[in-house]
Amino acid sequence: MFELPIYNICVFSMFILAALTFLALTKVTAPYGRHERSGWGPRIPNKFGWVLMELPAVVAFFIFYFQGRNSFEVVPLIFFFLWQLHYFYRTFVFPFLTRTEGKKMPLLIALIGALINTLNAFINARWISHYGSYSIEWVHSTPFAWGVGLFLVGLLINCHSDSILIKLRTHGPKEYKIPHGGCYRFISCPNYLGEILEWTGWALATYSLGGLAFALYTLASLLPRAIDHHKWYKARFPDYPNRRKAIFPFLF
Ligand code: NDP
Repeated sequence: MFELPIYNICVFSMFILAALTFLALTKVTAPYGRHERSGWGPRIPNKFGWVLMELPAVVAFFIFYFQGRNSFEVVPLIFFFLWQLHYFYRTFVFPFLTRTEGKKMPLLIALIGALINTLNAFINARWISHYGSYSIEWVHSTPFAWGVGLFLVGLLINCHSDSILIKLRTHGPKEYKIPHGGCYRFISCPNYLGEILEWTGWALATYSLGGLAFALYTLASLLPRAIDHHKWYKARFPDYPNRRKAIFPFLF
């Protein structure tokens, strides 16, 4: 009886979280990866941290999704597949491909990430399989076609760019090089651009406030980080290509 109001509060919270995250990350660089530093409490192995952080996006989404009254309809199942495709890769493939042996991340970062992923799994899974209503005709709609197309292009850019970064390391986890090829010809962080495109596509295809909230959250967390990475590259490598932008080709 109280669930819809609770659902709406959760969606609203995601919009607020996006705004707060953006404000916080314009002041403080998230302390993981190349920006990892002491002073953020206990630390855990990097690969384990990624699995812990992303696991709710797979498991909680699965549980919330299959509690929905529309969970065996075609369009919700397409959304379910797209979501799990991304998060299966992020949780069970990406951490084990990275060359980050011996590196750590703050437990706090993994726990915050896990909480946000749980909230996000709830608002998106509950919408697509329960509150939202998608007839089979939705697959012929413009938002669906553009949204799914954008999601898949984003996924491709994200995975391809991740793989270029991962292959750069030949001398251990502390090594950093200038990435080349693919979308790195234009920007410093195409993996982040790919991720932003994916969730913008998701928001469009699902035509939902939950999807929009997560797309904005992704932008809020990755835009400041892309700027930090871009500055870091320029400071570290004097020969860094100076026409390369941070995240949006030719613009920014
Ligand atoms: P990074 O680009 O910082 O790093 C990705 C991997 O490549 C790490 O293992 C990193 O090592 C390594 N790496 C990065 N740059 C270099 C380089 N120049 N030379 C050698 N190795 C390098 O991405 P993140 O770790 O921040 O994020 C990983 C993925 O998670 C991305 O695809 C991102 O889109 C996604 N993500 C999504 C979020 C969302 O809100 N939806 C939030 C955060 C991330 P190391 O860790 O040692 O630096």
